Amino acid sequence: MNLPTDNPHLEPSVQTYLDQLNLGHFLIQHCTSCKAHLFYPRRFCIHCTEDSLEWIKPKGTGVVYSTTTVRRKPEAGGDYDVSIVELDEGVRLMSTVQGMAPEAVKIGMRVRLQILKTESHPHKVVFIAADTPPTGEHHA
Ligand SMILES: [Zn+2]
Repeated sequence: MNLPTDNPHLEPSVQTYLDQLNLGHFLIQHCTSCKAHLFYPRRFCIHCTEDSLEWIKPKGTGVVYSTTTVRRKPEAGGDYDVSIVELDEGVRLMSTVQGMAPEAVKIGMRVRLQILKTESHPHKVVFIAADTPPTGEHHA
């Protein structure tokens, strides 16, 4: 499945977000009026209603704000994690923490954003434990 980047009815800010994600960049918005960060993309700041939004690349680190293990049969891929992650910029997004058992994902855990390229999701935003080594196996 490809992201609907050619949909003419998309909100322009969502279109920009998806275009950048397709290029491998995860961006959020920053309000130059009230200095708040925003995600999901919007046309106007939800905090001060100004349209003074600019795109920034977040640090990509944050903490698990809430976490749920979704049960799934092994033949369907097994259980997986659904977490809401609060980035250090203060915005929250729903995603998944990978690279560990879903039950091991804990609220308050430091995580790091990754953009995965899979067959079903060309650019899927996921998280891994922040202390996961960049390469090689993770030894608990
Ligand atoms: Zn604002």
